[in-house]
Amino acid sequence: MIIPFIAAGTAAGTLAWGAYDPTSPLFGPVVGRGPKDQRALYLTFDDGPRPPVTGPILDTLARERVPAAFFLVGAAVRQHPDMARRVAAAGHMIGNHTRSHRKLHRLGPRAVRAELMGGHQDIVEITGETPRVFRAPHGYRNPFVTRVTNTLGYRTMGWTFGVWDSDRPPPEEIRRRVRVKLKPGAIILLHDGDGYDPAGTTERGDRSNTRAALPGIIADARAAGYEFRSLGELLR
Ligand SMILES: [Zn+2]
Repeated sequence: MIIPFIAAGTAAGTLAWGAYDPTSPLFGPVVGRGPKDQRALYLTFDDGPRPPVTGPILDTLARERVPAAFFLVGAAVRQHPDMARRVAAAGHMIGNHTRSHRKLHRLGPRAVRAELMGGHQDIVEITGETPRVFRAPHGYRNPFVTRVTNTLGYRTMGWTFGVWDSDRPPPEEIRRRVRVKLKPGAIILLHDGDGYDPAGTTERGDRSNTRAALPGIIADARAAGYEFRSLGELLR
């Protein structure tokens, strides 16, 4: 009686690992870090666009000549088409972060397909760019996700570390959290919007602190001998 119980528990544990760990390869390969022998970093921003935050972030990136990747939410792209086009025009990589930021791991094949295909369609129609990369909301996936990412020819992205900037700690704290976690090849997860607030109207979804932290994050990384590279370079 005990053995099947343990086996079931292990299988459930394995599936949970696949569903919740953003870098678990259980549901297909995930890129979670660049080469560890190079002092390169990769900046990524999720959940936008949100104009008052995304715009100044684009300004900072342009001024500092830093490439980044933006994993856009389709609903936010539709709300802020000009800002979505601005991200694309700046030459940053654009990724699909679903249409409405639903947690995918508990959804069936139809709903998963609608989220991924919907986000893809929103981005293509509005920016003219065809996304080649996907990042799941919270990193949560299941086998249906893999099926659609394969159909779309996507690479699936994870991240090396995040700093809970969505909790809106002060900019200096966001900066400090990034500084202490820097390591070669790190893919850094930050947020320029709120996946659950595509219109960008709630204070809860405000990412101004991330925006304010960015110049310091770049300065700290460079002072430590790192350079920022594009995710596209990493995926080639
Ligand atoms: Zn997200």
